[in-house]
Amino acid sequence: MSRFFAERYQQMDAYVPGEQPKDMEYIKLNTNESPYPPAPSVVGAVTAERIELLRLYPDPTCGVLRAKLAGLCGYDAENIFVTNGSDDALNFIFMAYGSKGAIFPDITYGFYKVFAQLNGVFYREIPLREDFTIDPDEYMEQNRLILIANPNAPTGMSMDMGAIEDIIRSNPNSIVAIDEAYVDFGGQSCAPLVAKYDNLLVVRTYSKSRNMAGGRLGYAIGNVKLIQDLEKLKYSTNPYCINRLTMLLAEATVDADQYYLDCCKEVARTRVWTAQALTELGFKVLPSDANFLFAKAAKIGGKELYMALKVRGVLVRHFGNPRIADYVRITVGTAQQMERLLR
Ligand code: PMP
Repeated sequence: MSRFFAERYQQMDAYVPGEQPKDMEYIKLNTNESPYPPAPSVVGAVTAERIELLRLYPDPTCGVLRAKLAGLCGYDAENIFVTNGSDDALNFIFMAYGSKGAIFPDITYGFYKVFAQLNGVFYREIPLREDFTIDPDEYMEQNRLILIANPNAPTGMSMDMGAIEDIIRSNPNSIVAIDEAYVDFGGQSCAPLVAKYDNLLVVRTYSKSRNMAGGRLGYAIGNVKLIQDLEKLKYSTNPYCINRLTMLLAEATVDADQYYLDCCKEVARTRVWTAQALTELGFKVLPSDANFLFAKAAKIGGKELYMALKVRGVLVRHFGNPRIADYVRITVGTAQQMERLLR
């Protein structure tokens, strides 16, 4: 760290992304990417002609893409906020709505804590119950920003929609953000509730169910006024944050929606039999609605399992938090990759 670095960032712990080692070829099951490529029509969307247009700035309003996304979820373009990966949407949400503090589970997406620190937001982590479920009662009448990943990560467990609606209803003066990064693999989306509640933001990503982690696209669905707030922050940060190529690819992705829903179904099928096979091998596997499994071996710790798999060419993710140190998070890949993992 240099002596010039702003004091408020000096103690901050940056987010640590999943490793991408290059020393050998790994089966990469550590960052919840899709094992499938984008749809063929998406691959064909970037032509030489389009590349020539890179000399011009992209449309900062992302007009075409927003209208397409809105059509998909039954809202208007004004209800959609498009960002460079959903991490950016989450950061803007902390920036916009964190002034009274934030709460989120103790075991959840590690970036929430980092965004809170980055934006000077006071935060409290609410322990998950012993069985790793979220206790909705802990989130009632809190009057501060609430973040819930549904399904949660790294557990993969979903929360009942009714319980989420109770939380939204009991916090009318603060924003409830539901992070649906993994919802398409078996969860239930809260998007329909946006029409009913002006304090709800639903955050989605193209990185998991749209096979496009490398393209960096995320979005939030919410009340028009909330979207205007977030747009104001985006226009004060980087109005052109979605590049022309990603915008094109994302538009083509909306048009090929059925292909992606089929990929999600395939991942869910693979998840079910992999969970069964791991259980038969003596693992404890949490119920998952996501594209990953959170599993604990009978005889060795999570770190040992992670390392033993790594030397055999299979990358999974291990987290240091003592409550989950016995577990590893395993992304659901292709059937072949899962067979290799099980061997
Ligand atoms: N939310 C959750 C729960 C995640 O696991 C991730 C991916 N690490 C994200 C959001 C962010 O994904 P992206 O920025 O790639 O859209």
